[in-house]
Amino acid sequence: MSTYNPSENGTPAMSIMERMNHEQLVYCFDAKTGLKALIAIHSTVLGPALGGTRMWMYANENEALYDVLRLSEGMTYKASVAGLDLGGGKAVIIGDSRRDKTPELMRKYGEFVERLNGHYITAEDVGTSKADMGFIGERTQHVTGRPEQEGGSGDPSPVTAFGVYRGMKAAAMKAWGTPDLGGRTVVVQGAGNVGRYLTGHLLAEGAQVRVCDVFDDQIERIRAEFPQVQVISADDVYKQETDIYAPCALGSTLNDQTIPELRCRVVAGGANNQLADVERNSKMLAEQGILYAPDFVINAGGLINVYSEIKGYTREEAMERTTALYEQTLKILELADQLGVSTHEAAVRTARTRIDSRTLLAKA
Ligand code: NAD
Repeated sequence: MSTYNPSENGTPAMSIMERMNHEQLVYCFDAKTGLKALIAIHSTVLGPALGGTRMWMYANENEALYDVLRLSEGMTYKASVAGLDLGGGKAVIIGDSRRDKTPELMRKYGEFVERLNGHYITAEDVGTSKADMGFIGERTQHVTGRPEQEGGSGDPSPVTAFGVYRGMKAAAMKAWGTPDLGGRTVVVQGAGNVGRYLTGHLLAEGAQVRVCDVFDDQIERIRAEFPQVQVISADDVYKQETDIYAPCALGSTLNDQTIPELRCRVVAGGANNQLADVERNSKMLAEQGILYAPDFVINAGGLINVYSEIKGYTREEAMERTTALYEQTLKILELADQLGVSTHEAAVRTARTRIDSRTLLAKA
């Protein structure tokens, strides 16, 4: 999997696409609504490229470009490892979702998605909601995660969080010889949708949970739901002495600066692209004796859930398929040992094997 490389700032987008092997990149702009978006299709070998739309106040356009290219590549591997007939795509809208988001902007974005004729199917991500999927759905049918009352599968976050919980149990099994999380300490970074649902599962199993967020209202919300959680400062998250660190905010939180600070045995969380530099940071984690549960393996529950809208299965079936992420995660953690590679590399190889055999079949 490719690596974020800030030194590439200024490199033409097309050469970066070529290196990362993307099929298509679309820039979308609309002066009236203020829409500025990028849609990246990494691969359609296994099926249409499905991936959420993120709305975030990126520092600059290059940062948004890297994010969408990396996220869409990750979606290709996520769908493959989860056994879904989907390719990898992702979109980012540049803007502050709390200030700049309007129904008109979302509808306009839906028009751009429609122009891709189903090669890209969108869904919810950081900064977008199922209500937004409803607005997008007024202009395109290529949207998943719409509200239940509109025939959609609703918020994927509970299913994502359940998958993360199952993957975390597999990592616990590998690290301590038992999947039981009772009595374990877990630091959850990000008290958003995934972080909140994950906290519920952990507390129900008897784990002790510490959480942080950059927004006070998110902290208030999780404290109202789970008064027993301990709140920590977002700045202190990495140096916490804990069994498990669960990144559930944004990507690249495992990097050259943060890894030396970590005082945990396991990293298992819902955020996408947790490793800033895939190769170097995987190695650093292993050298510190930290077991990393690959993000795109354990956070596939949301994708499994939105896939149900395409395949017509129920939330119960999505939960059943997500339950199996325990076995899939454990298999990949074992494979890493057998091959003597990082857990991330073992996951990418598992994903690529399925994609390569589909390519061969198509050529036969
Ligand atoms: P969300 O927006 O509901 O929650 C993210 C939370 O992280 C927010 O409360 C935000 O304030 C907080 N945050 C941002 N930066 C932070 C920081 N530096 N320190 C602490 N908190 C910080 O998003 P979500 O849906 O919960 O998704 C969380 C992560 O999981 C994202 O990386 C997303 O891409 C990934 N993910 C989500 C799903 C899903 O179904 N929602 C599926 C797969 C992957």
